[in-house]
Amino acid sequence: MRVLFFFIVIFIAIAGCADLQTSPDRPYKAQVLHFEPQSTGNSSGWSVQERTLSTLEDLNSLKGRYFQILPGGTLQITSTVGSLITGTGSASSSSDALRYNIKNGVIVPRDTTTLLALSSFHAFEQTFSSLKETTGLEPEAFSEQVGGRYRIFFEPVISLSDSGETAQISLKLNAAFNPESDNFFLFKRSEIEQIPLAANFKVIAHEFGHAIFKRAFFKQKNEVCLNTNDETKISRQTDKFFPGRFAVEYAISGLNEGFADFMSAMMTGEADVLTGSFPGDGPTSRSLTSTRFTFADLSRDSLCSGKFYCIGTLFARALYKTAQLYGDDKSSLYAFSRRVYRAIDQTSENLAQSSARDILPIPSTEAIFCKRSESVRLAYDGLLTSAFLAAFLQGFSAGNEKSQLCAQLVSAFGSFGFTLEARGGCQF
Ligand SMILES: [Zn+2]
Repeated sequence: MRVLFFFIVIFIAIAGCADLQTSPDRPYKAQVLHFEPQSTGNSSGWSVQERTLSTLEDLNSLKGRYFQILPGGTLQITSTVGSLITGTGSASSSSDALRYNIKNGVIVPRDTTTLLALSSFHAFEQTFSSLKETTGLEPEAFSEQVGGRYRIFFEPVISLSDSGETAQISLKLNAAFNPESDNFFLFKRSEIEQIPLAANFKVIAHEFGHAIFKRAFFKQKNEVCLNTNDETKISRQTDKFFPGRFAVEYAISGLNEGFADFMSAMMTGEADVLTGSFPGDGPTSRSLTSTRFTFADLSRDSLCSGKFYCIGTLFARALYKTAQLYGDDKSSLYAFSRRVYRAIDQTSENLAQSSARDILPIPSTEAIFCKRSESVRLAYDGLLTSAFLAAFLQGFSAGNEKSQLCAQLVSAFGSFGFTLEARGGCQF
């Protein structure tokens, strides 16, 4: 009997390619998709690697110290703005969603969903471990403001909303952040993705960039523009700072995207959030090293067709090119990234002060009605970016770095997007 039991045990161990340990010890080790940026000097790219998931606290619920990955929930979308989403997510407690073996103490995924869920965990973990260097804040500063853990809905089932706006969902990144609930969404991969975007560190870092922008620029407030009564709308005509205005402004949405792309570049060391994810090599329109268009070109779709993302790309490029002052010196690059974070953190306050406030245009009719513009309006959006940049630059002290930043902003935004009046803080 004992001999038979022994043989059954041996058989299961060999057939399943797994040892008998059903729950490995912490810290968990798992085979995941891992991204190696070019800047490390190793060969850049993607590979399946054994990595330690050091902040994973419970394997089956994918609960980590700062976030939890929730597979198989549902999402009712009410609107999307770029990779920002509004809608309601609900989690189903499918703790059996993961299928894996344990081999020599390492979690080995048995299906693609499990590989991607663990890889997404890894990508979020990399993002959180970059926060101190790139923003100056501890990861807890972020997780505590959302009640302890960010919730990340993994491959949720999307339920159609009645408003018909669901049709707009064409998320380039297959990942989204909901600033109203502080939830993230990682959608099912599409067939054209080479690297599943939900496991892509560059994409996850971009999405978390929106959470950082929410904290720094929006002061973690839920800026929702509400269509209320006529009286309110009349008062908005003269109120440059009515609640929710900046959440619907085309230019601010763009700057939010650009800041997220810059944070992704600082965290991952790669200056193009999209390369490597889609077929076809070469830089995309989101590349931060290219100079193919300026603000004045934005009314022509042929040069940048990414709508408000194009404004963001100009901002991200100016920041990234200023960062080139520091070459490959990581600690100086991170110090610059922290100064950018601090300047964004002061921007909304500085916007309310006289010089930037005077540049800020009175709200457009669309903004008053909480509608986002469909396309750029060079004069109006240019005044918004000018006011924002003037306020942002106040966060930098005079010196070589600020001069370089000014020069890059002038070259990207020109006299429409960075007016002469807005350049008071620049010395040339
Ligand atoms: Zn985005």
